[in-house]
Amino acid sequence: MADLIAALSTPQGRGAIGILRLTGDGAVETVSRVFRPLYGKSLSETPDRKLVLGELLSPEGKTLDQCLAAVSRAPHSYTGEDMVELHCHGGPVLLSEGLRTLFAQGARQALGGEFTKRAFLNGKLDLMQAEAVADLIDARTAGAAVNAAGQLAGAMSRRIEEVYNGLVDLMAHFHAVLDYPDEDLNPFTIEKTEHDLLHWRERLEELLATFSRGRLLIDGVRCAIIGRPNAGKSSLLNALAGFERAIVTDIPGTTRDTVETEITSGGLVLRLVDTAGLRETADPVEELGVRRSLEAATGADLVVALFDGTRDWSDEDQLVLEAARKAEQSLLVLSKCDLEQRMEHPCLSGALRISSRTGEGLEALLNTITVRFPQGSDTAAGELLTNARQADAAARAKRGLDQALDALRQGFTPDAVLVGAEDALDALGELDGRTVREDVTARIFSRFCVGK
Ligand code: GDP
Repeated sequence: MADLIAALSTPQGRGAIGILRLTGDGAVETVSRVFRPLYGKSLSETPDRKLVLGELLSPEGKTLDQCLAAVSRAPHSYTGEDMVELHCHGGPVLLSEGLRTLFAQGARQALGGEFTKRAFLNGKLDLMQAEAVADLIDARTAGAAVNAAGQLAGAMSRRIEEVYNGLVDLMAHFHAVLDYPDEDLNPFTIEKTEHDLLHWRERLEELLATFSRGRLLIDGVRCAIIGRPNAGKSSLLNALAGFERAIVTDIPGTTRDTVETEITSGGLVLRLVDTAGLRETADPVEELGVRRSLEAATGADLVVALFDGTRDWSDEDQLVLEAARKAEQSLLVLSKCDLEQRMEHPCLSGALRISSRTGEGLEALLNTITVRFPQGSDTAAGELLTNARQADAAARAKRGLDQALDALRQGFTPDAVLVGAEDALDALGELDGRTVREDVTARIFSRFCVGK
């Protein structure tokens, strides 16, 4: 039994149209009672996915709106249940009255993600596809949207399924040996098993290797701007963001905490972090800021080390250079190139020159960053692992195969090999949701908006 749930599926507020959705047992009959088709048959006799023009009635029986209704019956609907969508005019009052009508007919308000959760529970989507729905809605770049759409179409699910089925086949023989101990594991079987386990482990490794790019596609590139006080960090962040996000002053040490802003450039989300100026300081608050800057630099995907072009090289610049060298990726940049330049240091020969005042060099800076983080154009849509839960499960699956391989090579009994392989299967099952725990699914669907 699926109880009736209803929600507004378009954003709150005024709009050209607003869509009310209802799913559950008896959805079509329920709407039939409050929707009067203008021409022809009642909704109950309307074929699936055909738009029907009619009048939606209020709980008191008054005409609320002239709108379109679409019916999809189980199992051929998004949720796998009987569903009706009402395409109304997008007035907030009318839509809330429309919902009141559906509630008066016995539906209850749907929770966030409840439609998609039902789709998952009814086997219309696996868990990775359900997560892809949320990713598609949340995508901030075209690349992220294309990858999510590919995952929704099942690109990632097929890869996982292939490994899953491969492992099930592989284990069948080991189970036979356990069930019929007279049957021996011959050297040929051991060799073949090792070969197969290695093959599937490689597939998982390839998948895991896509996560570093997939993560950047979704979360963006965390880019810390570091430099001595007054090097022009806040000015650079503001110039890039195109608005005043950080406080720009000429008093050294005013950025005592980190300030973060997000921009999109070349299909890449850049999370720019402005940090406190790096210098030795006796002020405890400023010192805390300096420490945070170093932490931000350590956790960043890219460090932009800024050197004030109008000043001489100093010990503080040395600190900045050292922090940049420790970073995974860094770019050295000379600031204030609209003013007379004094700064000289061997490490700066290839540095980019920018002016936050005139905008000179900013495009080149963004281009350089984009080139450093190419965004998946060479990867088929949906083949990038983008979320930490999925990456964690894939990593556990790979560890299970490592254990199975170890057990096999050390000549342990078949059940020792099976333990590792079964751990791998469990982890893969969590990925697509066939063995996932209820609290995990609850957390996943809580990400969704109401009406999805
Ligand atoms: P921060 O301490 O590193 O964040 O430095 P700010 O961004 O606060 O800049 C310090 C001073 O340098 C301010 O007076 C800015 O107006 C000035 N400044 C920053 N960038 C430029 C630039 O490209 N050209 C010029 N002429 N002045 C700049």
